[in-house]
Amino acid sequence: MLQGIQKFLKDEVFHAVRIGSEIRKIMGDFLRKKGFVEIAPVIISPITDPLAHPIFNGEISYYGNKYYLTRSMIFHKQIALLSFEKIFCFSPNIRLEMADKSQTGRHLIEFTQLDLEVRYAGREEVMKLAEEMLVEILKEIKMKCGDELELLEREIAIPSIPFKRISFEEAYEEYGAEYEEVLSKEAEQPFWIVDFPKWKREFYDREYEDKPGYLADMDLIYPEGYGEALSGGEREYKLDRILHRIEEKNDDIRKYSFYIEIAKHGLHPSAGFGIGIERLIRYICGLKSVEQATLFPKLPGKYCI
Ligand code: AMP
Ligand code: MG
Repeated sequence: MLQGIQKFLKDEVFHAVRIGSEIRKIMGDFLRKKGFVEIAPVIISPITDPLAHPIFNGEISYYGNKYYLTRSMIFHKQIALLSFEKIFCFSPNIRLEMADKSQTGRHLIEFTQLDLEVRYAGREEVMKLAEEMLVEILKEIKMKCGDELELLEREIAIPSIPFKRISFEEAYEEYGAEYEEVLSKEAEQPFWIVDFPKWKREFYDREYEDKPGYLADMDLIYPEGYGEALSGGEREYKLDRILHRIEEKNDDIRKYSFYIEIAKHGLHPSAGFGIGIERLIRYICGLKSVEQATLFPKLPGKYCI
């Protein structure tokens, strides 16, 4: 029952947590050097990411009002850009995933994203930033945590920039629904999947004017079968577009009233992404599961400390 506790005994968790501590420092230093401001995480809010896959709701009732546990800080990132040009946050997310996700090696119900957003940026700019950041992390970790990597028997190559890219359409046509898994297993370097169709994503990624139904967004995929590393894209920021996209999803506009009120006064164009820390640690350390990437893993469908 108390799943997390045995983890204290396992060497790989010990090394992974040490490497994770370095990774956070490298990311923070890298982004601050580029002019980013770190903002504090939002834990509860009347608005959170609707997500495009089924999960249970994490809710708190408070004096007759409802708060949601943060699933991602997407809306808060856009709002923060009214004050700052570049922001990042180590954002704890609660996603009460279905129990069938317990064996993927990639899902926890409590995890952390390094979530960032850049005012007036396009997708290309944040893709380049992600590539440079990943290369910097890998180089630094190889240099600083050589002993841990050796004990984990993990060798990682430094990928060359720019990473290859494939469109969702091409990937889906060639490999079907399992495209991500197949491509990730085949790959020796991280690569991008770009231009997702609307049905795959939430309402907030920007739809191309000249390619309706498709979004200016992207996923970074790790090689060796480790799967999705990050998701991101350009955002819808015009009120009429936001309302239209929410309605298309048959979602209830009233759920987003705080956000919509602010959008009425004007949001800025922006692009950004969120990269899962536990998945990054798993990839760098060559771990079987994200369960070994953190001291207190909460697995879907399980009851954990
Ligand atoms: P998303 O915006 O849903 O793609 O989430 C951003 C990133 O967070 C993903 O690319 C993953 O790296 C990570 N992530 C999402 N869901 C989970 C989960 N249930 N457990 C661990 N990491 C996750
Ligand atoms: Mg994603």
